[in-house]
This record gives sequence, structure tokens and C-alpha cells, in this order.
Amino acid sequence: MATIGFIGLGNMGAPMAANLVTAGQQVTGFDLVAGRAEALAAKGGRAAATAAEAVTAGEIVITMLPAGPDVRSVYLGEGGVLARARKGALLIDCSTIDVETARAVARAAADAGFDMLDAPVSGGVVGAETASLTIMVGGSVEAFERGRPLLAAMGRTIVHAGPSGNGQAAKICNNMILGASMIAVCEAFSLAERLGLAAQTLFDISAKSSGQCWALTSYCPVPGPVPASPANRDYVAGFTAAMMLKDLRLAQQAAGASGAATPLGSLAANLYQLFVDEGMGGLDFSGIYRFMRKPEVKI
Ligand code: NAD
Repeated sequence: MATIGFIGLGNMGAPMAANLVTAGQQVTGFDLVAGRAEALAAKGGRAAATAAEAVTAGEIVITMLPAGPDVRSVYLGEGGVLARARKGALLIDCSTIDVETARAVARAAADAGFDMLDAPVSGGVVGAETASLTIMVGGSVEAFERGRPLLAAMGRTIVHAGPSGNGQAAKICNNMILGASMIAVCEAFSLAERLGLAAQTLFDISAKSSGQCWALTSYCPVPGPVPASPANRDYVAGFTAAMMLKDLRLAQQAAGASGAATPLGSLAANLYQLFVDEGMGGLDFSGIYRFMRKPEVKI
């Protein structure tokens, strides 16, 4: 059994921490929001009253926080993880953040004598609840091997993507493909409608043709063809448009910093920004179909 300090018990962190408890680990959790650590304790974990208490309780420290600035402050802040962690502790950040921050915090961790992994996840709340996440991991091979059994209690597909920051790089590249391909699928269905081609017919053809992709066949943005997709339940999220926008912005930030040309990623980010600005950030990201088929949308 490992002792784990877990900071950030939100939509994703709470079920991930609960799965570690189910796997027989001793998990001490902390969250800024009152009641979240107690909810973990009710499932067999322990509640910490402060972040420092959670950090010192674990030979492994796992964080699942909203964004880069939160990760910087939790790790580098006064009395933060690097100042308090046990000697030899392994630090694992599962948040989705910018590559630059992930690498900077990992460097600071190494300077303080700690191994650190960036381990962002894909699969959403359902994936977190069912321990079926895909986890993309950056860090040394040794640290990866040490962290792998715990990651396997929270996810199904655990991939070592290379050195520090590469987990985040994989996450934003994947989601840039997803954001751009979702928009392409929405455009195609919108055009088909205007041309008098039924959505189901286009689906049946494209699902077996070169237009096939995950956004079409597993998550079709048009109601009907894929019963499990959010389009059939009024775009109640799955994965929100606001989250997609966050990841597309992270991809644009990384593209700018590295000089990569990502014109479709840039356009996808701008379209999701317009959609979110309409107050639709809480909708599933496939709900952008509603926006794309409006007659007045002219890009
Ligand atoms: P969330 O907002 O539900 O949870 C974040 C939690 O961190 C909150 O409970 C918040 O109170 C806590 N927190 C923030 N600052 C803290 C601090 N200083 N100390 C202690 N707790 C602190 O977000 P989420 O949906 O769980 O997402 C977490 C991360 O996972 C994000 O980076 C997100 O992009 C990523 N992610 C989310 C999904 C998803 O579908 N929700 C999917 C994949 C990846």
C-alpha cells in the first residue's frame, strides 16, 4: 500500500482519488472547497485540513488542479509541495496545463531533489469514475515506472510520452486534432443539410469512407446517428466547450512559443471562443454544431 497526498478533489480529482482508495491505497485529500476532502474520507480516504497536511501524508503527491497558475502556486508557493514533501516523494501533476509551466515546475522539483511526472488525462468525468482514463506521461523512465501502478488504478491506457512536459504536449496535440475535426464534421453536416442530403445518409457514407474520424463515428454532433453522443441529450456535457477552448488556447500558446504553424488549430480556437462568448461554454463541445449551422455565421 502506498501513502498518497491528493490535492484538488473536483470533478476529476474526486473520482480519481476514490479509485486509488478502492485500489487499496491510503489517500489523504485536500481541496480549497469545504466538504470535498470529507467526501473522500466518507469513501475510505482521509481528509486533510490543509494542503501541507496532505503533502506531508504521502510518499506520492498527486495534484488535479484547474490551470497552470494553480499548479505553480501549489508546488512553488510558500509552504507548497516542494517545500513540504517528504524526502524522496514522487510528485505527479494530472492537471491539463501549459507545457512551459509543466517543464518549469518539473525543473524546480528536480532542483529540490524530487522526481516529477506531468500526467494529464483524457476521458472526462466518466473515464475518471470508471478508471478508464488515458494518461499521457512526461518525465524520466524511472519516475514513470514508479508512478505507473498508481496511474493504472485511475486509468486504462498509460503511455510514457517522453521527458517532462511531453505528457502535456501529447494532450494538447490530441485535443487540437479533436477540436479541428469536430468543427470539420459540423461544417460537413451543415452543408449537407443545405444540399438536401439527410444527416443519417451522410453519416452512413462518411463512416465508411475517408471522412471517417472519432468526432463523426463516436461523438456525432448531429442528433440521431450515434445514440450515445451528447447531441441526443441537448448537448449536456461530456466535455465542455469551455474545456475545449482552454486546451485549444494552450495549443496556440505552445505553437507560438515553438514556431509551429497551426492555422486550423488557431481557427478552431477562435470559433470555440465565439461559441463560448455566446454563453455556451457549459455545453458539450460538440454543441458547436448549433453555432456552425446558423445562417449568419460567416468566417
Ligand atoms: P474542477 O474545477 O472540477 O476541479 C479542480 C479542483 O481543484 C477544485 O475542486 C478546486 O477547488 C481545487 N483547487 C484549486 N486550487 C486549489 C488549491 N490551491 N488547493 C487545493 N485545491 C485547489 O476541474 P476538473 O474538471 O476536475 O479538471 C481538473 C483538470 O483536469 C483541469 O486541468 C482540466 O483541464 C483537466 N481535465 C478535465 C476534464 C473534464 O472533463 N472535467 C477532462 C480531462 C482533463
